[in-house]
Amino acid sequence: MLVSAKDMLNKAKAGKYAVGQFNINNLEWTKAILQTAQELNSPVILGVSEGAGKYMCGYKTVVGMVNGMLEELNITVPVALHLDHGSYEGAKKCIEAGFSSVMFDGSHYPIEENIAKTKELVETCNELGLSLEAEVGAIGGEEDGVVGSGEVADPKECKMIADLGVTMLAAGIGNIHGKYPANWAGLSFDTLAEIQELTGTMPLVLHGGTGIPADMIKKAISLGVSKINVNTECQLAFAEATRKYIEAGKDLEGKGFDPRKLLADGTAAIKATVKEKMELFGSVGKA
Ligand SMILES: [Zn+2]
Repeated sequence: MLVSAKDMLNKAKAGKYAVGQFNINNLEWTKAILQTAQELNSPVILGVSEGAGKYMCGYKTVVGMVNGMLEELNITVPVALHLDHGSYEGAKKCIEAGFSSVMFDGSHYPIEENIAKTKELVETCNELGLSLEAEVGAIGGEEDGVVGSGEVADPKECKMIADLGVTMLAAGIGNIHGKYPANWAGLSFDTLAEIQELTGTMPLVLHGGTGIPADMIKKAISLGVSKINVNTECQLAFAEATRKYIEAGKDLEGKGFDPRKLLADGTAAIKATVKEKMELFGSVGKA
């Protein structure tokens, strides 16, 4: 059964580790992430962007697939199904479809409007026992066509949103979605420390986890980050393994063209990436 991300993140915050959010794109992705979480006895958050939701034929299809897998694969670790960077309308649709967690990204609205819309969703999510992630200040890079440039949030605005009673808070600290540029300035730990100081026990979320050096990840966790989003890294691992399979001509040998064989190496590569991240984040054995 899907669970809210609240308990797993509060435990992570208290225990100074982070739970990974791994974005899903299809059946192979979902299966790879769930199996790895179960093998490592780790809590996990499955992230779905609005674009990926559309690709997978809508939120109801996603909920059906994930719930089916939890049962058929005997998954017993805590799993949250979470809308990533949701619009206000998207968040409502996911709540109706059966997601256990949603992100409302109002970071592009003026702070007053972000607060008003977030507040309304806090009430809905509280009533239904769902977790809600809010965001302050644009995070850089590109996600579903939205471009930014490693922006940094205002800690006072973070406190205003945290005080609304959201479950977890995403705040820009110089992180970027996608691949990091060679001249990236790194994470702003001063900002993170200030946000943590003002928001207390609120689990903080680090977006754009692909390509942030391990020591920076560990420092961010020590400063209150309890959820780290990983998306691009699984995509790169899947693409590389699949390319190697085809370049080696394996799809031309025997029944190597069978999608169950064709996608097997890529799926194994996602599993390896998820394992590596769970070990780095410290969530192994914390289910
Ligand atoms: Zn993000």
